[in-house]
Amino acid sequence: MKKILVIEDEPNIRELVLYNLKTNGYDGIAAEDGIMGITMVHRENPDLILLDLMLPEKSGYEICRELRAEGDDTPIIMVTAKTEEIDKVMGLECGADDYISKPFGIRELMARIKAVLRRYEVTSDTEGDKDTVLAVADLNINVERHEVSVGGILVELTFKEFELLRYLAENRGRVFTRDQLLNNVWGIDYAGETRTVDVHIRHLRQKLSEAGDNEQFIETIRGKGYKMK
Ligand code: CA
Repeated sequence: MKKILVIEDEPNIRELVLYNLKTNGYDGIAAEDGIMGITMVHRENPDLILLDLMLPEKSGYEICRELRAEGDDTPIIMVTAKTEEIDKVMGLECGADDYISKPFGIRELMARIKAVLRRYEVTSDTEGDKDTVLAVADLNINVERHEVSVGGILVELTFKEFELLRYLAENRGRVFTRDQLLNNVWGIDYAGETRTVDVHIRHLRQKLSEAGDNEQFIETIRGKGYKMK
């Protein structure tokens, strides 16, 4: 049974989520502030963390950054009070895997949890097998290791940036609209939040060019979307 840690200071939301995790076959545990949250991550080693952004003691953003700095790659779904905060969180680049804004529907939340867990499993289950490497000029994407390099220089990407790059590389030359990318990479209906794609593309380009991408592998097709060269 997958263990899911809910770090949430609002008792009503916490109880509602815990209840629904249980009825959906998960082992739900909870922490009500940031310090307790970090302690629980260390002690319980959860399979996924639902992390509220605004928390007493320590913010969700700080928790996320601390865990990633420790090398802890437990999947994190960041929960924000407003849609605008999602942009802020992404701009801060804390390394969360997905974002959801309150108020959210339970079905949507469960779908996100399932999708993040599934993607995470796909990448960790295949370790040890022969590595699949996607190569576009001097860009190398090692699917199993989740490693990206440009001319041999490793590029640090968040989970979602990696998934986006991988998807474009797997479908090289094909143009995708922002909506298509949201559906195919994020796996859920993010209607009205296509800026999410643009923000991720911008970060990806920046990181790739810092590593020496002179070709600009990701091309913008005006009025349509993006494609991998
Ligand atoms: Ca809160």
